[in-house]
Formats: sequence, C-alpha cells, structure tokens
Amino acid sequence: MEMIYIKVAIIGAGVSGLSCAFELRKHGCTPVVFEKQSQVGEPMNYTGMWASNFIRHFGDPIYYIKKKYNLDIKPLCRYKEIIMKFPNGQVNVKGNLGYIMERSSDIFSLENQIARQADVNIIFNSAVKVEDIKNDFDYVVVAGGYHNPADKLGIWSTTTISHSRVTRVRGDFIPGVCKTWFNTEYANHSFCYLVPKSSKVATLAQILDSVQQNQYDSYWDRFITMEKLNYEVIEKKDTNHYSGIVSPMQKENIFFIGNAAGLTDNFMGVGAYNAIISGICAARSIINNLNYDKIMSPYRKDIIKLHELRKAVNTFKNENFDMIGSVIGNSFVKQLIYLNPLFKMKHAAPVAKIYNWFKCH
Ligand SMILES: Cc1cc2nc3c(=O)[nH]c(=O)nc-3n(C[C@H](O)[C@H](O)[C@H](O)COP(=O)(O)OP(=O)(O)OC[C@H]3O[C@@H](n4cnc5c(N)ncnc54)[C@H](O)[C@@H]3O)c2cc1C
Repeated sequence: MEMIYIKVAIIGAGVSGLSCAFELRKHGCTPVVFEKQSQVGEPMNYTGMWASNFIRHFGDPIYYIKKKYNLDIKPLCRYKEIIMKFPNGQVNVKGNLGYIMERSSDIFSLENQIARQADVNIIFNSAVKVEDIKNDFDYVVVAGGYHNPADKLGIWSTTTISHSRVTRVRGDFIPGVCKTWFNTEYANHSFCYLVPKSSKVATLAQILDSVQQNQYDSYWDRFITMEKLNYEVIEKKDTNHYSGIVSPMQKENIFFIGNAAGLTDNFMGVGAYNAIISGICAARSIINNLNYDKIMSPYRKDIIKLHELRKAVNTFKNENFDMIGSVIGNSFVKQLIYLNPLFKMKHAAPVAKIYNWFKCH
C-alpha cells in the first residue's frame, strides 16, 4: 500500500477516534493517537443499545458498516425485546430492534474490537489539549467525547446537560430483553433503563435532567423503591453529559468527531454508531480533501430533529408519559414505530415541533 505522509493527531482512543485511526491506516496514513487513560475503554463495564430506529441508515447497521467500511463489529447479542414501563402501564415490543454492545476495557468491547482492527500505536496516559498540538500536526482530530474543546473554539452550543448514574448489577435477566422506565417522580423528564450483559449481570442506569447534585441519591433511592428492584449493585459511576450542536464540525485544521462533535442525541443518548461514522468520514475527508461538514450535515440535522422530541418531553407530566404509553401500546402504532424498518425516531420530530409551538403560544 502506498504510504501517505500527512501528520494527523487524534485526541482520544474511544469509539470515534479509533474508527478514524482505522480508516486512516487503511489509506496508508498512520496517525498519532493520544489517550488520557492507561487503556482502551472505560474501567467500568457497561452495555449499550444500538436501537435501529435511532440509526440513520436503513437495514442492519453492522452489515452496513462491514460492507461500506470493511469494519467488523461483533455485538454481544441481538436487542430483541423492549419492556417500557410508564407510571401507570407497560408496553412490550418484540422484534429485531437492534443490537446490544459491550463498552469496557475488555477485549470484546466495541472500542477494543475497533482498536484491534485499527492496529495503531496509542500513546496512553496522555491528556492532550488541542491548542498544545495543533501547530505540530497537519490535522488534529478531536475525539475526546466531551464538549470543552469545541466550546473553547466558540463552535459548541449546549442543548442539554444530563446526569447519568450507571450501575452494574447482579440478578436474573434475559439477554437481549431491555427495560426502560419513565416517571417524573424518579427520572424527571428523562428515563431509567436496564440492558443485560448476560443472564446474571446487567447495566442499570438512571438519566436525570434539571436535578441538583445533592438530590441524585434521593432520586435513585426513589427509583429502586418505587420499582421494587432488589438487584445487587457491583459497581456504580456518576457522570455529567453535555449534549449540543457543533457548527462547523471542522475549523481550520481541526476536525470534531463523535460526542465531541455533538453527535450523541439528547433524546435517548444514543451516539456510538454516529461516532464510528464520523470518525471514518473525518479520515476520508483528510485523505481526499473532502468537505467534512457537508458529509456530516445530515447527521447533525438528525440530532437537531431529535432535539425537538427532547424539548417536547421536557414539558411532560406523568399523565403525558401515560398517554404516550397508551399510544405506543396501540398495535398499529407499535408496528409503525418499532417494527417498520423505514421508521426512524426523527420522523416524529414534526409532531413534536407542532406540540412545542402550541406549548409556547
Ligand atoms: C451513560 C452512557 C450511556 C450510553 N449509552 C449508549 C447506548 O446505549 N448506545 C449508544 O449508541 N450510545 C450510548 N452512549 C453514548 C456513547 O457512549 C457515545 O456516543 C460514544 O462513546 C461516543 O464516542 P466518542 O469516541 O466520541 O467518545 P468516547 O467513547 O467517550 O471516547 C473518548 C475517549 O477520549 C479519551 N479522552 C478524553 N479526553 C482526552 C484528552 N484530553 N486527551 C486524550 N484522551 C482523551 C477518553 O478517555 C476516551 O477514551 C452512552 C453514553 C453514556 C455516557
């Protein structure tokens, strides 16, 4: 393969940064990858969903990534059922809903699978700032998973700040069967969810919006008590997450990818798939001198559409969640939203936009 001598630095060996490194290497360009941790993947093991109706492309996302980019992803298992609990009801949907992925420092995790295929040297224990290295490289790709670098350059606007408590719990679970809970009493306008890793271990998480730090524990306790959950908590991690819009996604020789480019949606927090695509598209833009912002514009538009849903849900009371539950519970709507491969959550944005307009006027 012909070598390409472009000096590229990637800040962050997460899902997006490693996907970028993978694609650069495929084109004969070896980037320098900086990672602040001592390994690829977080020490805490958690499981995440690739929910098909949040993924931009139609069809099987794993097949799409393999066919289009030759990147092999092996999920933990299929995501085959969702049990949605509303304050006064429950809706179950079974079908081919997507995949479950492992996120951790384990060799089977999503990030470690990509790292193996990228086969790139990573400089660990190196927390790097854009301004310190941007003059030493032809391009800097920002893949740190947070908003600060784009914010510093004045190209970030925050849409939501949420708090997540992610725990690893022991209990009895059915792999592939996930649960979500919606109830303002313990999740405010966000939600709680459970994603099994195996029949004995699962991720149990609570996402909160507009809640003061000194109330996190009481919200969590209320969740556990009201839902009568008696799992054994093995590990626990609290983080704050900024969702936002980055425009433009390339500024001079600096490219933003993954969550650093605001590509995690602020409706349900799904972003790993966009992280892969943005990493690959940034690499291709660098190699072929393409317009990265133009390529990523449909993804940014999807995020903006999902933000309309978030704005609508932010006004919800429990009765509204119950109403949504009864609408989704209708077999025709269930079929349309979850079992119709052509339906994506962003398609509900125009309805949310009208709802938001009426709420404001
Ligand atoms: C609690 C939670 C649950 C989630 N669940 C899902 C889900 O179910 N499905 C889904 O699709 N998405 C989910 N996401 C979102 C998903 O994790 C992100 O979209 C995805 O990880 C973004 O990839 P990234 O490469 O941008 O960032 P990350 O994967 O976070 O990687 C960033 C990397 O950069 C490193 N780094 C940071 N700063 C520096 C620095 N200055 N120098 C060097 N290295 C640095 C970090 O250590 C890390 O390794 C979830 C996110 C959270 C927080």
